[in-house]
Amino acid sequence: MSVSKIPFLDLVTPHKEIEAELVEAFRKALHTAGFIGGPAVEGFEMEYAAYCDSKFCVGVANGTDALRFALMAAGIQAGDAVITVPNTFIATTEAISQAGARPYFVDIDERTYNMDAAKLRTFLETKCTGKPGNMVTNDLGLSVKAVLPVHLYGQMADMDAIMDVAHEFGLIVVEDACQAHGAEYFSRKQQKWLKPGSFGMAAAYSFYPGKNLGACGEAGAVTTNDKEIARKIRQIRDHGQAKKYYHDVEGYNGRLDAIQAAILTVKLKHLPEWTRRRQQLAKQYNAAFAEVGASVVVPFEPEWSRAVYHLYVVRVRNREALQAELSEQGIGTGIHYPVPLHQQKAYEYLGYATGDFPVTERVAPEIVSLPMFPQMTADNVNDVVAAVRQNVQALAASAHSSR
Ligand SMILES: *Cc1c(COP(=O)(O)O)cnc(C)c1O
Repeated sequence: MSVSKIPFLDLVTPHKEIEAELVEAFRKALHTAGFIGGPAVEGFEMEYAAYCDSKFCVGVANGTDALRFALMAAGIQAGDAVITVPNTFIATTEAISQAGARPYFVDIDERTYNMDAAKLRTFLETKCTGKPGNMVTNDLGLSVKAVLPVHLYGQMADMDAIMDVAHEFGLIVVEDACQAHGAEYFSRKQQKWLKPGSFGMAAAYSFYPGKNLGACGEAGAVTTNDKEIARKIRQIRDHGQAKKYYHDVEGYNGRLDAIQAAILTVKLKHLPEWTRRRQQLAKQYNAAFAEVGASVVVPFEPEWSRAVYHLYVVRVRNREALQAELSEQGIGTGIHYPVPLHQQKAYEYLGYATGDFPVTERVAPEIVSLPMFPQMTADNVNDVVAAVRQNVQALAASAHSSR
C-alpha cells in the first residue's frame, strides 16, 4: 500500500493560510516599535479571557512560567507539597519545584489518562495527616497546599470530583490547561459547561507552536477569576514591579512579547473552527477504529467532556512495531509520554519506585499519538486507520500461528 506522507503535525500549512494577516501583525509592531507590553498584549489578554469565560488573562513568556507564576501567586513556597500526576510533560513538575515546593504524584484514571480523584483522596487520607487547610505529608512533614490536575491531550480532568476533594482537605487548585484551549466540562454541580480556570484558582496555558493555539515562538498565559491573583502574576512576570523601578518583590522576566500577542490575536479568531475540525477528525478516527476491534483502544470521552483533541492517543499492544511500520509508510506518530515522571532520572530524588503508579506504568508502553491537526483530510484519517489495521491484524495472525 502506498499512502501520501502524513506528518504527525503540520505547522506550515496553517501559517501559509493566514500569512498576510500574520505579516501585517508583525509590520504593525515594527512600525510602532511596540515589542513588549502595550496594546497588542492587552488586546490579546482581553480576547483570550473572553474566549476562556474568565475575568482575567495575564500573558506570560511560556506555559511553564504560567504554571510557576500561578503557583507563586497562590502562595506556594519552599516547604510546601503540591500534588499532580506522573503522566504529564515535565513542565508541570518543573513549575512546582521551581516555585520551591516538592511534587507528589497520584495515579491516573485508566480510561481518561487524567488524575483519578479517588486516588487523590486516598493519598490525602493515607499519606498525610492534619486538619483541612493544614494537611502535612507523613514522610517529610511538608505542608500540602495545592493540587495541580492536568487536562491532558485536550480533555479536562474530572473537575467536580477533584474540587470536592480539594474543598474537603482545604487545598488550592491550579489547572494545567497547556493542552486544553477551549476544552469544556459539564459540571453536574453547577449544571453548566465550563472551561479550564472556572474551577481552580487559575489555569495555565501554553502557546508553544504545536499547541492548539500556538504562537510563532514562545508564549503562555494564566486565566483566573481572581483579581488579586491576576495582579500578583502581572507583578511576578515583570520583575516584581508594581510601577517602573519600584519592586515590591523579586520577580522574573516572564512577559508575553507583543509580536507574539498580535500573532495570537490573529490566530485566536481561527481557533473555534480549528477546534471543530479536530473534533470531527477524532469522530472519524473513532468510527473507523470501531471496525478494527478491541486491539486498538480509542480515546474515551465521558458524556461530561467536550475534548479539543490536542492529541489523538490510542492504546495498542505492539506500539514499537506499529510506529516503525507507520513510519515506513510515511505516517508520523508521537508518544506522550514514554517515561512517567516518577521514573525519570531527574526525579530519582523523590524516592518513588516502579510499581508505585500501576495505571500510568501500564499505559506508558502502549500509548501512541496518531496524526492530528486541523488541516488533516478525511482521506488522511482513512489512510492512517488502514495502516494501523494492517499492522495489528498482521500481529494478531503471527501471534496465532506461533501458538
Ligand atoms: C506544553 C506544556 C507545558 C509547558 O508549556 P511551555 O510553553 O512549553 O513552557 C506544560 N504542561 C503541559 C501539559 C504541556 O503540554
